[in-house]
Amino acid sequence: MFKVNDNFSALSSGYLFSEVGRRISAYVQANPSADIIRMGIGDVTRPICGSVIEAMHRAVDDEASCATFHGYGPEQGYQFLRDAIAANDYAKRGIAIETDEIFIGDGAKSDIGNICDLFASSNRVAVTDPVYPVYVDTNIMSSRGHSIEYLPCVAANSFVPELPVCSPDIIYLCYPNNPTGTTLTKDQLTEWVRYAQDHGAIILFDSAYEAFITSPDVPHSIYEIDGAKEVAVEFRSFSKTAGFTGVRCGYTVIPKSLRGRFSDGSVASVNMLWNRRQCTKFNGASYIAQRGAEAIYTPQGQQEIGQTIRYYLENARILRNGMSGMGLEVAGGVDAPYIWVKTPKGCSSWQFFDKLLEECHVACTPGAGFGSSGEGYIRLTAFNTLENTVAAVDRLSRLSL
Ligand code: PLP
Repeated sequence: MFKVNDNFSALSSGYLFSEVGRRISAYVQANPSADIIRMGIGDVTRPICGSVIEAMHRAVDDEASCATFHGYGPEQGYQFLRDAIAANDYAKRGIAIETDEIFIGDGAKSDIGNICDLFASSNRVAVTDPVYPVYVDTNIMSSRGHSIEYLPCVAANSFVPELPVCSPDIIYLCYPNNPTGTTLTKDQLTEWVRYAQDHGAIILFDSAYEAFITSPDVPHSIYEIDGAKEVAVEFRSFSKTAGFTGVRCGYTVIPKSLRGRFSDGSVASVNMLWNRRQCTKFNGASYIAQRGAEAIYTPQGQQEIGQTIRYYLENARILRNGMSGMGLEVAGGVDAPYIWVKTPKGCSSWQFFDKLLEECHVACTPGAGFGSSGEGYIRLTAFNTLENTVAAVDRLSRLSL
């Protein structure tokens, strides 16, 4: 019989969100009148803004006539969107990124997973702990499960990881962070870029929550750091920035100056490898989604998405204040839609999850599901409605701890 990839048996079996869903369903089945407020969701709830919707309607109409029909697009994405990204997300911040360093995809998750194709299985990997599980699982699938170093992010280091000790080749950083909602300052991120330069490592910088940054000393792109173009890939997503979780569009920046080596010692351009990979395995993001994404960069689009981001940040502020008002230790929620809350009195993540579900009918995400350093924490998200956020805080504030 044919053989399957053994690495899949090394993946941890229970997917966090399935277990969360299972517990909520079981509770609702036993208590059908319980009105559960879901504060664990990582999906957005606000609709896509008017400018984007109009642009997508126009793009649908384009498909209806021979003169404007678009079939297969460029695997790298349409020039109109790559130009808008280079001009708005980079040139406006004083960062020179060329359009052929930008690859449009169907969201950050696919690109983050697919980039594993480019790296030798002998590479060592470093991830933060707690961590967005995709970094870990995709490396396990690619035979690097045994060489992952976990960098604890805990209250004692203010959720800022120490530099690695095992000299990793591939370093995943996600800032603003999911799940802790914390950020790195420019000085802190500079240390990572210097580390990668000194150790010949690559940084895979996940910037899915960039749009939520409000603090002036938090960089919006890793390329704000000198030398980052030689060591870093940046992943961006329109999912949380503009409600594209269902539409699907994002992009990955791979500077042409970023180089690795083949095992024979010859030099390889990561940009060229990724281009080759995409041309082989990807047929481009949808024209309609890309026209929608382009509209985000119009003045009207910017104003509209800004309004939605502020809505979620207000929810985050309400959650933060509510939880700290209860005497709980809280991180995140200032430059991110996530609030990381320490459970009281040594309660485990899952015990506190059950307590909130049963006593307040509020669902959260247990921190332990993001890694062992997440034990003793829960994650709340700001993506629910304002009304539900206020109601959840009200219910939680009546909890006896
Ligand atoms: N990176 C992080 C840290 C995320 O939290 C998410 C989604 O929750 C993604 C990437 C995936 O985003 P996308 O919808 O663009 O695939």
